[in-house]
Amino acid sequence: MKYYSTNRQVPPATLRDAVLKGLADDNGLYMPERIPQFGSGFFSALPRKTLQEIALDVAIALFGDDIAVAQLHDVVYDTLRFEIPLVKVTGNCYSLELFHGPTMAFKDVGARFLARMMQYFTRNEKVETNVLVATSGDTGSAVANGFLGMEGVTVTVLYPKGLVSKIQEAQFTTLGQNVRALEVEGTFDDCQRLVKQAFLDKELNVRRRLTSANSINLARFIPQAFYYFWGWAQMPQDSEVTVCVPSGNFGNLTAGLLAQRMGLPVKHFIAANNANDIFLKYLQTGAFSPRPSIATIASAMDVGNPSNFARILDLYDYDYTKITAAISGYRYSDAQIREVVKRVFDETKYLLDPHGACACEALRERLEKDRKATGFFLETAHPAKFKETIDDILDADIPVPGKLQAFMRGRKQTIAMSNRYEDFRAFLL
Ligand SMILES: *Cc1c(COP(=O)(O)O)cnc(C)c1O
Repeated sequence: MKYYSTNRQVPPATLRDAVLKGLADDNGLYMPERIPQFGSGFFSALPRKTLQEIALDVAIALFGDDIAVAQLHDVVYDTLRFEIPLVKVTGNCYSLELFHGPTMAFKDVGARFLARMMQYFTRNEKVETNVLVATSGDTGSAVANGFLGMEGVTVTVLYPKGLVSKIQEAQFTTLGQNVRALEVEGTFDDCQRLVKQAFLDKELNVRRRLTSANSINLARFIPQAFYYFWGWAQMPQDSEVTVCVPSGNFGNLTAGLLAQRMGLPVKHFIAANNANDIFLKYLQTGAFSPRPSIATIASAMDVGNPSNFARILDLYDYDYTKITAAISGYRYSDAQIREVVKRVFDETKYLLDPHGACACEALRERLEKDRKATGFFLETAHPAKFKETIDDILDADIPVPGKLQAFMRGRKQTIAMSNRYEDFRAFLL
């Protein structure tokens, strides 16, 4: 299978090249040339399969031309060494808990898969691979942990100084080994811009093999489709399923749209946003107007120019009518997020994180209008990753899982960085 760039200014790439490059040379995002389809027999068998079995089926459909099944099996099973339970929150509303991986956020799935795919494709090579990753919090930790200790790979994490939570910061600044953390004077958008500029820098790419681990990378984006199949299979049979995704760069949501295109019978998708409502504005007006991000308590969704929007446009042939029919948007202020966390906890004892809270509420609002429907939302992070915020909302002292406490005990090691490209470039050289 070949992968084309959404900008279509360069020839299609092999899977290997698409994974190692991350971003295409014309600045576009890679998409599969052919989207495999599953028949109804596949879906009726899903409820009897494990998460790992389903993931392998989907991986074979997408990557089976390029990687032997035995190797794909190892990549998939080694990636998914944790469960993804579907938990009932209220009558028709379920939470797909994606936070049971090593860093307790959904990005573990994509990051671990990507790391193993890169290792597979570079296993016989001597050149050092430099993974660059801009993070607003969870990407950095998931990628750094996904690649930790991997030979022949150095990971550089760029994060906005003072704008990620203490726990998130500890998850990528205390690792050492092949992981280095740059504390950037600026916002997440500055970090993303520095990384994008580095990829477009020809000379730099000749001298250093740079690759991206942001959600633009195909091998991070696609494995996120696995758990939509799994989540759907855990839902009560014969129900129409709406899926709601707390969205920032829209990689997670777009993977759900891909799963649907492969035949997954999801009725409707919802993009839940915080105050950074660029996508909602697009749904309302047809105009996509990126703007600087606004800091919120759902900080991993503070994105002013969602990078996977290009994939959504491509998937729907740039047809605004099709996009608005397939996806709805909702937006929540910090005050609303706080109210939701508190209300849902008081009423059900289910503890949401600020990102999941946006999605839970958007799903509730949507299902309210459609009583027959059921749905699940993606709970993308463990609430304890945002302990200061949650404690404040509930006036409580929520427990921190041992896995997260272990990160907090490490020593922070960071390198200070301005938001100027020349400084970043000099550092990489
Ligand atoms: C990254 C992240 C999101 C947003 O995911 P995208 O794929 O960028 O849309 C939502 N919630 C949490 C907790 C995250 O870390």
